Amino acid sequence: MNKNIAVIRGDGIGPEIVEQALRVLDKIAGLYGHTFTYTDADMGGCAIDKHGDPLPESELAKCLASDSVLLGAVGGNKWNDVPGHMRPEKGLLRLRAGMGVYSNNRPAKIWKQLADASPLRKEIVENGIDFIIVRELIGGIYFGEHKTEEIDGKPTAIDVLTYNEEEIERIGRIGFETAQKRNKKLCSVEKSNVLDSSRLWKKVMHRLAEEYPDVELSDMLVDNCAMQIVKNPAQFDVIVTENMFGDILSDEASMITGSIGMIPSSSLGSTTCGLYEPIHGSAPDIAGQDKANPIGTILSAAMMLRYSFDMPAEADAIENAVSAYLDAGYRTADIMSEGMTIVGCRRCGDLILENLRKE
Ligand code: NAD
Repeated sequence: MNKNIAVIRGDGIGPEIVEQALRVLDKIAGLYGHTFTYTDADMGGCAIDKHGDPLPESELAKCLASDSVLLGAVGGNKWNDVPGHMRPEKGLLRLRAGMGVYSNNRPAKIWKQLADASPLRKEIVENGIDFIIVRELIGGIYFGEHKTEEIDGKPTAIDVLTYNEEEIERIGRIGFETAQKRNKKLCSVEKSNVLDSSRLWKKVMHRLAEEYPDVELSDMLVDNCAMQIVKNPAQFDVIVTENMFGDILSDEASMITGSIGMIPSSSLGSTTCGLYEPIHGSAPDIAGQDKANPIGTILSAAMMLRYSFDMPAEADAIENAVSAYLDAGYRTADIMSEGMTIVGCRRCGDLILENLRKE
C-alpha cells in the first residue's frame, strides 16, 4: 500500500521522537511491502519563527492532502510572550478544527514490565489495564455558550451543554468501530440520571447497538466510571463518552499507567485521515539532550497503521517490538528503575528496530 503521511516534528523534543517513529515506519514499509511518503509540515513555535504564524494555510493544506498526520509536540518557553492568537498551541487547535477531528482516542495500557510505575496496588495492576477512551472532541459544554450576567441582583455564570443526535451518533460509531477492532466491549459513559443530553446520548448508543451486534454495549454513570477506573480497570475495553467527561476520565486513565512518555493518541473525524500524537508536550527541559522517550510517538504511529490504514498486523508488530525492548530491560530516564539499563532516545529507537519483525 502507498500512504502519504504529513509529518509535524514541532518543537522541543518533537524532532527527536518523530525521527525514531519514522525509522520504525520505514522498517515496517520494508517488511510488509508498503511505501510511506513523508511530507514535512511546520506547526507550532518553529512555524512562528519561520512563517510568523503557528499554522500557515500552506501547512494545513499539506495535512489535509495527506492520508494521516504524525505529530511530535509543540510549544516552549521561547514563545511564552507572543500574543494569545499566535501561541504555538493555537496551531494545534486550528489543525484539529481544520481536519474536523471530532473524536479523540487515548489508550490506557499498562505494560507488565512497568507495573511498578502505576500508583495502583499491585493486585489491581496484575489483572491488566488495557482500554481506550473515545472522547467527543468538538461539542458539549466546552463549545456551548459561556456568559456571566446579573440575574436577580447576583453575578451568575452560565455554560450551556448541548448535544444533537447527529453529534452523538458520529462519535458513537467511532466507539463501536473501535470496539470491533479490539475485544468488542463498549461502555457508554454518561450522567443520564440527571442530564437530558445524557439521556439522548444513551438512547442513540442503544439505537446504534442494533447495527453492531458483534459489540457488547454497557452503560455506566460517569461518577461510577471514575471509581471503576481505579478499582477494577481490567473490566474496560472501549469507553465512549462526551467531551468534558472524556477530558477528566482520560487524564485519570493516563495517570494509572504511570508514564506520560509511553502514551499515544489519535484524533479522527468522518474520514480515515487522522491526527496521531503522543499525549505529552514538548518537554523543553530535556530537548536536544537525547533523553526523551520516543515510545509514545512510536505507538502513535502504530495507532495510525491500525486505525487509519487498516494494517493491524503491522501495528501488532510495532507493539510487540516495544514489549520485547522493555522485556530486555532497557529504559529511557523517565521510566528508569533499579537493575535496568538506561538508554537515550536514539538508542531506544535502535533497540526497538532490532526487535521489529514480521508477525
Ligand atoms: P510536558 O509533557 O512537555 O513535560 C512534563 C514533564 O514530562 C517534563 O518533566 C518532561 O521532561 C517530561 N516528559 C514529557 N514527555 C517526555 C518524554 N517523551 N520522555 C521523557 N520525559 C518526558 O509538559 P509541560 O512541561 O507542561 O509543557 C511543555 C510545553 O509543551 C509547553 O509549551 C506546553 O504548552 C506544551 N504542550 C504541548 C502539547 C502538544 O503538543 N500536544 C501537549 C502538552 C503541552
